Amino acid sequence: MSAAQTGSIADIHGTQGFGLNNLPYGSFDAGAGFRPGVRIGDSVVDLRAALAGHPRVSDALRVALDTPSLDGILAAGHLVWAELRELVTVLLGETPVDDRLSKTVHAIASVRIGMPFTVSDYVDFYTSEQHALRVAEIFQPERPELSRAWKHLPIGYHGRSATVVASGTDVVRPKGLRLDGSAATFGPTRQLDFEAEVGFVVGTTDAVSEVSLEDASRHIFGVVLLNDWSARDIQMFESAPLGPHLGKSFATAISPWVVPIAALENARVQPPTRDTPLAPYLDDRGMQPWGFDLRLAVELNGEVISRPPFSTQYWTAVQMLAHMTVNGAILRSGGLFGSGTVSGERRDQRGCLLELTWNGTDPLPLADGTTISYLADGDEVRITATAPGAGGSTISLGEVTGWISPATAMKPV
Ligand code: CA
Repeated sequence: MSAAQTGSIADIHGTQGFGLNNLPYGSFDAGAGFRPGVRIGDSVVDLRAALAGHPRVSDALRVALDTPSLDGILAAGHLVWAELRELVTVLLGETPVDDRLSKTVHAIASVRIGMPFTVSDYVDFYTSEQHALRVAEIFQPERPELSRAWKHLPIGYHGRSATVVASGTDVVRPKGLRLDGSAATFGPTRQLDFEAEVGFVVGTTDAVSEVSLEDASRHIFGVVLLNDWSARDIQMFESAPLGPHLGKSFATAISPWVVPIAALENARVQPPTRDTPLAPYLDDRGMQPWGFDLRLAVELNGEVISRPPFSTQYWTAVQMLAHMTVNGAILRSGGLFGSGTVSGERRDQRGCLLELTWNGTDPLPLADGTTISYLADGDEVRITATAPGAGGSTISLGEVTGWISPATAMKPV
Protein backbone atom coordinates (compact mmCIF):
# COMPACT_ATOMS: atom_id res chain seq x y z
CA MET A 1 0.00 0.00 0.00
CA SER A 2 1.41 3.39 -0.94
CA ALA A 3 1.70 6.17 1.60
CA ALA A 4 -1.06 8.14 -0.10
CA GLN A 5 -3.53 5.29 0.31
CA THR A 6 -2.96 5.04 4.06
CA GLY A 7 -4.69 8.38 4.69
CA SER A 8 -8.35 9.34 4.90
CA ILE A 9 -10.68 9.57 1.91
CA ALA A 10 -9.88 13.30 1.89
CA ASP A 11 -6.13 12.60 1.93
CA ILE A 12 -6.40 10.10 -0.91
CA HIS A 13 -8.87 11.93 -3.18
CA GLY A 14 -8.95 15.58 -2.08
CA THR A 15 -7.53 18.29 -4.35
CA GLN A 16 -6.91 22.00 -4.01
CA GLY A 17 -10.38 23.39 -4.61
CA PHE A 18 -12.28 20.22 -3.75
CA GLY A 19 -10.89 19.29 -0.35
CA LEU A 20 -12.49 18.68 3.01
CA ASN A 21 -13.18 22.43 3.31
CA ASN A 22 -15.54 22.45 0.31
CA LEU A 23 -17.63 19.24 -0.01
CA PRO A 24 -20.22 20.36 -2.59
CA TYR A 25 -23.28 18.18 -3.20
CA GLY A 26 -24.73 16.87 -6.44
CA SER A 27 -26.63 14.00 -8.07
CA PHE A 28 -24.89 11.13 -9.84
CA ASP A 29 -25.57 7.68 -11.29
CA ALA A 30 -22.90 4.98 -11.09
CA GLY A 31 -25.21 2.40 -12.66
CA ALA A 32 -27.74 1.87 -9.89
CA GLY A 33 -29.79 5.05 -10.48
CA PHE A 34 -29.33 8.69 -9.58
CA ARG A 35 -28.64 9.48 -5.94
CA PRO A 36 -27.15 12.28 -3.82
CA GLY A 37 -23.38 12.50 -3.63
CA VAL A 38 -20.68 14.69 -2.17
CA ARG A 39 -17.65 15.67 -4.23
CA ILE A 40 -14.08 15.21 -2.98
CA GLY A 41 -11.41 15.98 -5.58
CA ASP A 42 -12.38 14.33 -8.85
CA SER A 43 -14.45 11.71 -7.06
CA VAL A 44 -17.97 11.51 -5.69
CA VAL A 45 -19.00 9.72 -2.50
CA ASP A 46 -22.39 7.97 -2.50
CA LEU A 47 -24.02 9.60 0.55
CA ARG A 48 -26.74 6.99 0.96
CA ALA A 49 -24.26 4.11 0.93
CA ALA A 50 -21.58 5.89 2.96
CA LEU A 51 -24.01 6.78 5.76
CA ALA A 52 -26.00 3.51 5.71
CA GLY A 53 -26.01 2.00 9.19
CA HIS A 54 -24.18 5.00 10.66
CA PRO A 55 -25.34 5.21 14.29
CA ARG A 56 -25.54 9.02 14.36
CA VAL A 57 -27.70 9.58 11.28
CA SER A 58 -31.08 11.04 12.25
CA ASP A 59 -34.31 9.70 10.79
CA ALA A 60 -34.79 13.04 9.04
CA LEU A 61 -31.43 12.76 7.29
CA ARG A 62 -32.01 9.13 6.33
CA VAL A 63 -35.30 10.11 4.66
CA ALA A 64 -33.63 13.12 3.02
CA LEU A 65 -31.02 10.92 1.32
CA ASP A 66 -33.66 8.61 -0.14
CA THR A 67 -34.19 10.79 -3.25
CA PRO A 68 -32.40 10.78 -6.63
CA SER A 69 -31.08 14.34 -6.20
CA LEU A 70 -30.70 16.94 -3.46
CA ASP A 71 -34.47 17.52 -3.28
CA GLY A 72 -34.84 15.61 -0.02
CA ILE A 73 -31.88 17.33 1.58
CA LEU A 74 -33.13 20.79 0.59
CA ALA A 75 -36.58 20.05 2.01
CA ALA A 76 -35.13 18.75 5.28
CA GLY A 77 -34.04 22.21 6.38
CA HIS A 78 -30.93 23.83 7.80
CA LEU A 79 -30.55 21.66 10.92
CA VAL A 80 -30.25 18.54 8.74
CA TRP A 81 -27.81 20.39 6.41
CA ALA A 82 -25.55 21.06 9.40
CA GLU A 83 -25.86 17.44 10.59
CA LEU A 84 -24.97 16.11 7.13
CA ARG A 85 -21.94 18.37 6.69
CA GLU A 86 -20.59 17.46 10.13
CA LEU A 87 -21.05 13.72 9.57
CA VAL A 88 -19.49 13.82 6.09
CA THR A 89 -16.56 15.97 7.24
CA VAL A 90 -15.73 13.47 9.99
CA LEU A 91 -16.28 10.41 7.80
CA LEU A 92 -14.10 11.61 4.92
CA GLY A 93 -11.37 12.76 7.30
CA GLU A 94 -11.16 9.50 9.26
CA THR A 95 -8.33 7.01 9.17
CA PRO A 96 -8.03 4.18 8.53
CA VAL A 97 -10.56 3.95 5.68
CA ASP A 98 -12.53 0.74 5.83
CA ASP A 99 -13.30 -1.23 2.71
CA ARG A 100 -17.02 -0.56 2.90
CA LEU A 101 -16.46 3.22 2.76
CA SER A 102 -13.89 2.89 -0.05
CA LYS A 103 -16.53 1.17 -2.17
CA THR A 104 -18.82 4.23 -1.94
CA VAL A 105 -16.27 6.41 -3.78
CA HIS A 106 -16.56 6.72 -7.58
CA ALA A 107 -14.43 8.62 -10.08
CA ILE A 108 -16.56 11.44 -11.51
CA ALA A 109 -15.29 10.54 -14.99
CA SER A 110 -16.91 7.11 -14.61
CA VAL A 111 -20.43 8.22 -13.57
CA ARG A 112 -23.29 10.24 -15.02
CA ILE A 113 -23.88 13.62 -13.39
CA GLY A 114 -27.46 14.91 -13.28
CA MET A 115 -29.29 18.09 -12.37
CA PRO A 116 -28.47 18.61 -8.68
CA PHE A 117 -32.06 19.41 -7.69
CA THR A 118 -35.50 20.01 -9.12
CA VAL A 119 -35.89 23.74 -9.70
CA SER A 120 -39.26 24.75 -8.25
CA ASP A 121 -39.12 28.46 -9.03
CA TYR A 122 -36.52 30.63 -10.71
CA VAL A 123 -35.98 34.36 -10.28
CA ASP A 124 -33.17 36.34 -11.85
CA PHE A 125 -31.97 39.59 -10.31
CA TYR A 126 -29.89 42.54 -11.53
CA THR A 127 -27.64 43.30 -8.58
CA SER A 128 -24.37 44.53 -10.15
CA GLU A 129 -24.31 48.31 -10.17
CA GLN A 130 -21.57 48.28 -12.81
CA HIS A 131 -23.64 46.03 -15.07
CA ALA A 132 -26.83 48.02 -14.61
CA LEU A 133 -25.06 51.36 -15.26
CA ARG A 134 -23.30 50.03 -18.35
CA VAL A 135 -26.52 48.60 -19.80
CA ALA A 136 -28.11 52.01 -19.24
CA GLU A 137 -25.17 53.68 -21.05
CA ILE A 138 -25.52 51.29 -23.99
CA PHE A 139 -29.27 51.57 -24.46
CA GLN A 140 -30.06 55.06 -23.21
CA PRO A 141 -26.87 57.11 -23.68
CA GLU A 142 -28.93 60.29 -23.34
CA ARG A 143 -29.88 59.21 -19.79
CA PRO A 144 -27.20 56.75 -18.56
CA GLU A 145 -28.41 56.24 -15.02
CA LEU A 146 -29.87 53.59 -12.74
CA SER A 147 -33.65 53.22 -12.70
CA ARG A 148 -35.61 55.03 -9.98
CA ALA A 149 -36.00 51.87 -7.87
CA TRP A 150 -32.54 50.34 -8.35
CA LYS A 151 -30.98 51.38 -5.02
CA HIS A 152 -34.23 50.90 -3.09
CA LEU A 153 -34.82 47.23 -3.94
CA PRO A 154 -33.13 44.38 -5.80
CA ILE A 155 -34.65 44.45 -9.30
CA GLY A 156 -35.62 41.03 -10.63
CA TYR A 157 -38.03 39.08 -12.82
CA HIS A 158 -39.48 35.58 -12.76
CA GLY A 159 -37.71 33.24 -15.16
CA ARG A 160 -38.55 29.77 -16.42
CA SER A 161 -37.64 26.90 -14.08
CA ALA A 162 -38.46 24.25 -16.73
CA THR A 163 -35.52 25.31 -18.89
CA VAL A 164 -32.90 25.48 -16.18
CA VAL A 165 -30.47 22.84 -17.43
CA ALA A 166 -27.32 21.17 -16.20
CA SER A 167 -23.86 22.23 -17.30
CA GLY A 168 -22.84 20.51 -20.51
CA THR A 169 -26.28 20.77 -22.12
CA ASP A 170 -25.96 22.07 -25.69
CA VAL A 171 -27.64 25.42 -26.28
CA VAL A 172 -29.68 25.40 -29.47
CA ARG A 173 -29.62 28.86 -31.01
CA PRO A 174 -33.11 30.19 -30.27
CA LYS A 175 -35.47 31.64 -32.83
CA GLY A 176 -37.84 34.52 -32.28
CA LEU A 177 -39.04 37.89 -33.45
CA ARG A 178 -36.44 40.61 -33.72
CA LEU A 179 -36.04 43.88 -35.54
CA ASP A 180 -34.40 43.67 -38.96
CA GLY A 181 -34.06 47.34 -39.83
CA SER A 182 -37.55 48.52 -38.97
CA ALA A 183 -39.29 45.21 -39.77
CA ALA A 184 -40.22 42.61 -37.14
CA THR A 185 -38.66 39.44 -38.53
CA PHE A 186 -38.78 35.86 -37.26
CA GLY A 187 -35.53 33.90 -37.29
CA PRO A 188 -32.54 32.63 -35.33
CA THR A 189 -31.03 35.17 -32.96
CA ARG A 190 -28.05 37.11 -34.28
CA GLN A 191 -27.02 38.29 -30.82
CA LEU A 192 -26.56 35.21 -28.67
CA ASP A 193 -24.85 36.03 -25.37
CA PHE A 194 -23.89 34.54 -22.03
CA GLU A 195 -24.31 36.12 -18.60
CA ALA A 196 -21.89 35.06 -15.85
CA GLU A 197 -23.91 34.85 -12.66
CA VAL A 198 -23.99 33.22 -9.25
CA GLY A 199 -27.13 31.20 -8.40
CA PHE A 200 -28.47 30.63 -4.90
CA VAL A 201 -30.24 27.38 -4.00
CA VAL A 202 -33.10 27.49 -1.52
CA GLY A 203 -34.37 24.80 0.84
CA THR A 204 -37.24 24.91 3.31
CA THR A 205 -39.27 22.43 5.34
CA ASP A 206 -42.48 24.44 4.81
CA ALA A 207 -43.78 26.78 2.17
CA VAL A 208 -43.09 30.19 3.71
CA SER A 209 -43.48 33.84 2.80
CA GLU A 210 -42.49 37.23 4.21
CA VAL A 211 -39.06 35.76 4.97
CA SER A 212 -36.93 38.07 7.13
CA LEU A 213 -33.23 38.64 6.46
CA GLU A 214 -32.35 36.40 9.43
CA ASP A 215 -34.70 33.64 8.27
CA ALA A 216 -33.36 34.01 4.74
CA SER A 217 -29.89 33.15 6.04
CA ARG A 218 -31.31 29.79 7.18
CA HIS A 219 -33.08 29.03 3.89
CA ILE A 220 -30.11 29.47 1.53
CA PHE A 221 -28.46 26.07 1.15
CA GLY A 222 -25.66 26.89 -1.25
CA VAL A 223 -24.42 28.42 -4.46
CA VAL A 224 -23.96 27.33 -8.06
CA LEU A 225 -22.51 29.05 -11.09
CA LEU A 226 -25.22 30.15 -13.48
CA ASN A 227 -25.14 31.11 -17.15
CA ASP A 228 -28.23 33.10 -18.05
CA TRP A 229 -28.05 32.55 -21.82
CA SER A 230 -29.56 35.56 -23.58
CA ALA A 231 -30.68 36.43 -27.10
CA ARG A 232 -30.22 40.20 -27.13
CA ASP A 233 -32.13 41.02 -30.33
CA ILE A 234 -35.16 38.98 -29.21
CA GLN A 235 -34.86 40.43 -25.70
CA MET A 236 -34.62 44.04 -26.89
CA PHE A 237 -37.66 43.79 -29.16
CA GLU A 238 -39.94 42.12 -26.61
CA SER A 239 -38.87 43.71 -23.33
CA ALA A 240 -40.64 47.06 -23.13
CA PRO A 241 -42.62 47.49 -20.93
CA LEU A 242 -42.67 44.17 -19.04
CA GLY A 243 -39.09 42.89 -19.16
CA PRO A 244 -37.33 39.84 -20.59
CA HIS A 245 -39.26 36.75 -21.70
CA LEU A 246 -38.29 34.56 -24.68
CA GLY A 247 -34.92 36.28 -24.98
CA LYS A 248 -33.97 34.49 -21.76
CA SER A 249 -36.27 31.50 -21.22
CA PHE A 250 -34.75 29.13 -23.83
CA ALA A 251 -31.88 28.05 -21.55
CA THR A 252 -30.39 28.83 -18.14
CA ALA A 253 -27.50 26.57 -17.17
CA ILE A 254 -26.15 25.79 -13.70
CA SER A 255 -23.07 24.02 -12.42
CA PRO A 256 -23.77 20.50 -11.10
CA TRP A 257 -22.11 20.83 -7.66
CA VAL A 258 -23.88 22.97 -5.07
CA VAL A 259 -21.29 24.52 -2.77
CA PRO A 260 -22.78 24.83 0.73
CA ILE A 261 -22.88 28.30 2.27
CA ALA A 262 -21.06 26.68 5.20
CA ALA A 263 -18.03 26.21 2.91
CA LEU A 264 -17.87 29.94 2.16
CA GLU A 265 -17.37 31.35 5.65
CA ASN A 266 -13.86 32.55 4.79
CA ALA A 267 -15.17 34.25 1.65
CA ARG A 268 -17.66 36.52 3.42
CA VAL A 269 -17.11 40.24 2.75
CA GLN A 270 -19.07 43.38 3.48
CA PRO A 271 -21.21 44.43 0.52
CA PRO A 272 -20.53 47.91 -0.92
CA THR A 273 -21.54 50.93 1.14
CA ARG A 274 -25.20 51.74 0.50
CA ASP A 275 -25.80 55.41 -0.25
CA THR A 276 -29.60 55.15 -0.18
CA PRO A 277 -31.46 54.36 3.07
CA LEU A 278 -33.01 50.89 3.02
CA ALA A 279 -36.53 49.84 3.96
CA PRO A 280 -36.53 47.87 7.24
CA TYR A 281 -37.08 44.51 5.51
CA LEU A 282 -33.88 45.04 3.47
CA ASP A 283 -31.76 46.75 6.13
CA ASP A 284 -28.91 44.31 6.78
CA ARG A 285 -26.85 46.49 9.11
CA GLY A 286 -25.73 44.51 12.15
CA MET A 287 -26.08 41.07 10.65
CA GLN A 288 -23.17 38.96 9.41
CA PRO A 289 -22.11 40.11 5.94
CA TRP A 290 -23.65 38.28 2.97
CA GLY A 291 -21.24 39.56 0.35
CA PHE A 292 -18.90 36.85 -0.94
CA ASP A 293 -15.44 37.11 -2.45
CA LEU A 294 -16.13 34.82 -5.41
CA ARG A 295 -13.76 35.25 -8.34
CA LEU A 296 -15.36 34.27 -11.61
CA ALA A 297 -13.64 33.56 -14.92
CA VAL A 298 -15.30 33.33 -18.34
CA GLU A 299 -13.64 31.28 -21.06
CA LEU A 300 -14.61 31.44 -24.72
CA ASN A 301 -13.30 28.38 -26.57
CA GLY A 302 -10.63 27.95 -23.89
CA GLU A 303 -9.48 31.59 -23.78
CA VAL A 304 -10.20 33.61 -20.62
CA ILE A 305 -12.00 36.76 -21.78
CA SER A 306 -13.22 38.11 -18.44
CA ARG A 307 -12.72 37.78 -14.69
CA PRO A 308 -15.82 39.24 -13.01
CA PRO A 309 -15.54 39.91 -9.23
CA PHE A 310 -18.65 38.95 -7.26
CA SER A 311 -17.59 40.86 -4.12
CA THR A 312 -18.83 44.21 -5.43
CA GLN A 313 -22.47 43.13 -6.05
CA TYR A 314 -24.69 45.79 -4.44
CA TRP A 315 -27.48 43.51 -3.17
CA THR A 316 -26.89 40.29 -1.23
CA ALA A 317 -28.58 36.89 -1.39
CA VAL A 318 -30.52 37.37 1.85
CA GLN A 319 -31.83 40.71 0.62
CA MET A 320 -32.92 39.11 -2.66
CA LEU A 321 -34.72 36.33 -0.79
CA ALA A 322 -36.39 38.72 1.67
CA HIS A 323 -37.45 40.94 -1.22
CA MET A 324 -38.97 38.19 -3.35
CA THR A 325 -41.26 37.06 -0.51
CA VAL A 326 -42.11 40.37 1.21
CA ASN A 327 -45.39 40.68 -0.69
CA GLY A 328 -46.64 37.24 0.44
CA ALA A 329 -45.16 35.30 -2.48
CA ILE A 330 -44.53 31.71 -1.42
CA LEU A 331 -41.03 30.28 -1.12
CA ARG A 332 -40.83 26.56 -1.97
CA SER A 333 -37.94 24.19 -1.48
CA GLY A 334 -35.87 23.90 -4.64
CA GLY A 335 -36.07 27.60 -5.43
CA LEU A 336 -33.23 29.08 -7.46
CA PHE A 337 -32.39 32.74 -7.82
CA GLY A 338 -29.62 34.35 -9.82
CA SER A 339 -27.51 37.38 -8.92
CA GLY A 340 -27.77 38.88 -12.38
CA THR A 341 -24.70 39.45 -14.52
CA VAL A 342 -21.58 39.90 -12.41
CA SER A 343 -19.50 42.79 -13.73
CA GLY A 344 -16.63 44.87 -12.38
CA GLU A 345 -15.16 48.26 -13.28
CA ARG A 346 -12.72 47.17 -15.99
CA ARG A 347 -13.42 45.84 -19.46
CA ASP A 348 -11.81 42.53 -18.55
CA GLN A 349 -14.25 42.21 -15.65
CA ARG A 350 -17.47 42.46 -17.65
CA GLY A 351 -19.74 39.41 -17.39
CA CYS A 352 -21.46 39.37 -20.81
CA LEU A 353 -20.71 40.16 -24.45
CA LEU A 354 -23.31 42.94 -24.44
CA GLU A 355 -20.94 44.87 -22.19
CA LEU A 356 -17.65 43.40 -23.45
CA THR A 357 -18.43 44.45 -27.05
CA TRP A 358 -20.77 47.39 -26.35
CA ASN A 359 -23.66 45.56 -28.00
CA GLY A 360 -21.44 44.40 -30.83
CA THR A 361 -20.27 47.89 -31.84
CA ASP A 362 -16.77 47.47 -30.30
CA PRO A 363 -15.77 43.84 -30.99
CA LEU A 364 -13.54 42.16 -28.42
CA PRO A 365 -10.03 41.22 -29.68
CA LEU A 366 -9.11 37.57 -29.14
CA ALA A 367 -5.69 35.93 -28.79
CA ASP A 368 -5.76 34.49 -32.31
CA GLY A 369 -6.12 37.94 -33.90
CA THR A 370 -9.84 37.65 -34.59
CA THR A 371 -12.61 39.49 -32.74
CA ILE A 372 -16.00 38.55 -31.35
CA SER A 373 -19.25 40.53 -31.18
CA TYR A 374 -21.75 37.80 -30.25
CA LEU A 375 -21.57 34.00 -30.04
CA ALA A 376 -21.26 31.86 -33.18
CA ASP A 377 -22.47 28.28 -33.68
CA GLY A 378 -19.81 25.94 -32.33
CA ASP A 379 -18.58 28.36 -29.66
CA GLU A 380 -18.16 27.02 -26.15
CA VAL A 381 -18.53 29.15 -23.03
CA ARG A 382 -17.17 27.96 -19.69
CA ILE A 383 -17.63 29.85 -16.43
CA THR A 384 -15.59 28.89 -13.37
CA ALA A 385 -15.03 30.46 -9.96
CA THR A 386 -12.98 30.16 -6.83
CA ALA A 387 -13.31 31.53 -3.32
CA PRO A 388 -10.85 31.82 -0.44
CA GLY A 389 -11.05 28.98 2.09
CA ALA A 390 -9.53 28.63 5.54
CA GLY A 391 -5.77 28.90 6.01
CA GLY A 392 -4.97 30.18 2.53
CA SER A 393 -6.80 27.30 0.83
CA THR A 394 -9.07 27.61 -2.20
CA ILE A 395 -12.70 26.61 -2.66
CA SER A 396 -13.69 25.75 -6.23
CA LEU A 397 -17.23 26.37 -7.45
CA GLY A 398 -16.63 24.02 -10.38
CA GLU A 399 -17.87 25.09 -13.79
CA VAL A 400 -20.87 25.66 -15.98
CA THR A 401 -20.19 24.94 -19.63
CA GLY A 402 -22.30 25.09 -22.77
CA TRP A 403 -21.75 24.65 -26.51
CA ILE A 404 -23.74 26.54 -29.13
CA SER A 405 -25.63 24.30 -31.51
CA PRO A 406 -27.10 25.69 -34.78
CA ALA A 407 -30.76 26.72 -34.80
CA THR A 408 -33.29 24.06 -35.76
CA ALA A 409 -34.49 24.23 -39.38
CA MET A 410 -36.91 26.94 -40.45
CA LYS A 411 -40.07 25.90 -42.27
CA PRO A 412 -39.65 26.97 -45.93
CA VAL A 413 -41.93 29.82 -47.01
CA1 CA B 1 -29.45 37.64 -16.11
